[in-house]
Amino acid sequence: MNDSRLDCAEALALLQDYLKDELTPDNQRRVAGHLAACGHCLEHEHFERNFLAAIQRAAKGIRCPDEVAARIRQALRSDTPD
Ligand SMILES: [Zn+2]
Repeated sequence: MNDSRLDCAEALALLQDYLKDELTPDNQRRVAGHLAACGHCLEHEHFERNFLAAIQRAAKGIRCPDEVAARIRQALRSDTPD
């Protein structure tokens, strides 16, 4: 990829990693540049961003009950050979 411009397929392929800040700074910049110029991909970006935020919110609310955690620890212990 010598051309610094991404097409839509490339931008969308990188979108998940872009939102998680897992791209190289170069690719991060290229995706941002594409989103700034492409309303179609920007819509996807908003959708994915909300989706990730919703998952993170949901994950925060989930907590393993102490009783379940204790049972898991016990099961793990009884599985170990020593
Ligand atoms: Zn696009």
